[in-house]
Amino acid sequence: MGSLECDVLIIGGGIAGLSLASALAPFSSVVLVEAETTLGYHTSSRSARQLIPSYGPEPVVDLTRRTLDLLADVQGSTGLALTVPRSFLLIGSAADVEAKTTAGMRTLSHAEALELCPQLRPESFEAAAIDPDCVGTDTDLLLEFHRRSASDDGVIILTGAPVTSAVYDGEGWNVRAGRRGIRAGVVVDAAGAWADGVAELCGVRPQGLVPYRRTAAIVGAENAPRVGTPMVAAADDSFYFRPDADGVLISPSEAEPAEPGDAQPRAGDVERLIRRLDSLTTLGISSIRRSWTGLRTQRDTGLPIVGFDAGHPGFFWLAGQGGYGFQTSSAIAELAVVLLTGADPADLGADPARTAGAEAALQPA
Ligand SMILES: Cc1cc2nc3c(=O)[nH]c(=O)nc-3n(C[C@H](O)[C@H](O)[C@H](O)COP(=O)(O)OP(=O)(O)OC[C@H]3O[C@@H](n4cnc5c(N)ncnc54)[C@H](O)[C@@H]3O)c2cc1C
Repeated sequence: MGSLECDVLIIGGGIAGLSLASALAPFSSVVLVEAETTLGYHTSSRSARQLIPSYGPEPVVDLTRRTLDLLADVQGSTGLALTVPRSFLLIGSAADVEAKTTAGMRTLSHAEALELCPQLRPESFEAAAIDPDCVGTDTDLLLEFHRRSASDDGVIILTGAPVTSAVYDGEGWNVRAGRRGIRAGVVVDAAGAWADGVAELCGVRPQGLVPYRRTAAIVGAENAPRVGTPMVAAADDSFYFRPDADGVLISPSEAEPAEPGDAQPRAGDVERLIRRLDSLTTLGISSIRRSWTGLRTQRDTGLPIVGFDAGHPGFFWLAGQGGYGFQTSSAIAELAVVLLTGADPADLGADPARTAGAEAALQPA
């Protein structure tokens, strides 16, 4: 098979790689390679599908708010239902809720919280707060939107094409991905849990990224909350649940270090959470319809890594999105376009001061 040439080669076909591909396509020639035969196969098909503007450190909050604006623009121009209203209700002890109540959230009385989620047993929480700006998102639709808009703008997307070697000759990269050879000016590492491994393959120093397991399940419940009612999360990070078209989505919110790979639920994890939810709620969970585990990968600062590697002019990081990969996706892609092309943020409709702040906060170590 012949070789390909491009300005930018994106490694990884999850939300990070695909959202950059669609944002960058008008400016550069782009090839995206994905190791699996299906785009979004790993963490990007395993999320809770929630965009929570009050969640995360300050740079993440800024990126989330910008992403919500950008998605609203897409929604307005395409008519695609990328987001749906779904607020975020935090419950727990008074101390835990106070510690987690950030700007943009509002404290609720016990009665107000119960009105929003009557399935909570009154004695199961002391205090509550709400993020009313939080929305749910259709991640499949979002991935497909980016795939289609990237393809329409000329991006070549190869699946079943794992990058196995990459050599820089001072002017560009010679990369082997599956059976294809690719010549690229810049390599973007959007390889999720594998991002440090891809860096090493390219001869670049890793960033100390750690993948953390998180499991979720869709369960059947006799007293399921109505679609459109809030996602409910424990302020001590011990569980969350939310209504879903197929039942109720539940998660034990675990964050255990793991190796990169096709993570799977462990026997007993979901059952233990169901017993806990039975004691805290009147959901009446009756069956496990499906369950999955994904890897949320981040560095010790908890912030994504976006920018050229300090020691390698041809290597660009787009990794470490942790539990914020969807809610920050469009803003991170926008920042990456600015850094990769030298475009003026104002020309993209972005605030130059905020863009500079994000660049500083997210730069590789
Ligand atoms: C249970 C759970 C709930 C979550 N809930 C939310 C949420 O509500 N909101 C939110 O914003 N985020 C959430 N997240 C986090 C979010 O899903 C991730 O941040 C995001 O999906 C990461 O996307 P990514 O593109 O970086 O990684 P991935 O989707 O893992 O994509 C990386 C891709 O790179 C490919 N790759 C690796 N090595 C190579 C190679 N050598 N060659 C070619 N390709 C390669 C992989 O096959 C993979 O497809 C959740 C995560 C989990 C697990």
